[in-house]
Amino acid sequence: MGIEARIPMIIGNWKMHKGTIPETSELLRGLIPLVRDVADREIVVCPPFTTLESATYLCKDANISIGAQNLHWEEKGAFTGEISAPMLLGLGVTHVIIGHSERRQLFGELYELVNRKIDSALQFNLAPIVCVGENLDEYRAEQTFRVVEKQIECGLKGLSDIQMREIVIAYEPIWAIGTGLAATSFRAEMVHSFIRARLAETFSPEVGNSIRILYGGSVKPDNISEFMLQPDIDGVLVGGASLEADVFAKIVMGKPFYR
Ligand code: PEP
Repeated sequence: MGIEARIPMIIGNWKMHKGTIPETSELLRGLIPLVRDVADREIVVCPPFTTLESATYLCKDANISIGAQNLHWEEKGAFTGEISAPMLLGLGVTHVIIGHSERRQLFGELYELVNRKIDSALQFNLAPIVCVGENLDEYRAEQTFRVVEKQIECGLKGLSDIQMREIVIAYEPIWAIGTGLAATSFRAEMVHSFIRARLAETFSPEVGNSIRILYGGSVKPDNISEFMLQPDIDGVLVGGASLEADVFAKIVMGKPFYR
């Protein structure tokens, strides 16, 4: 499969914001008409658990898919406060973010756990959006490639080529998340092409060619085009700038994706 087959993807991660029904409704009612004519890229928004059902209902006729921000790896059981893959599926959710750096840093989520979550998502036909990326110390110590390689190795362990077709990788350097300090497109491209090469080696050249690798970390309307011009960057994962309909719509529509 050639790169032309990789449909660009723009994901909004709302984190713990806009999680009341009126807030979700206002944001989505603003966004839906702004992106209505976008047909050459996939749009996914990930509200908090509390409004996933409202979001899937509001977007039922729109070109926006709904993702969750996390899931538990078991289908059911004594796991107070947790949400499983079949529960998300029942709400009409199609995607799920797994291993976001905030979950790794603040909730101690290790990559063995990420691996179990991916398995569960795939079992229930949810597309996993798997986040990887180095922290500031690792970046300064020039450990980026080693860290990302290990995250990929542990997180994707045991998956088949067919399962890999459902996976989206998001490279999010932790030092760039929410800081306003995005990686340069040159640096992001270097890491993306490294990830693609490792996936081609670990799985197959087809997996390497076809997998979508998104960049995340302080993406804004004024830097989206430079990322999207890079051959190995297939879209973006957006946090803060996805919380306002007109700002996110500008990112979604960015400049044309030259492929
Ligand atoms: C994120 O939360 O994954 C993210 C990339 O956030 P921001 O765009 O705000 O840096």
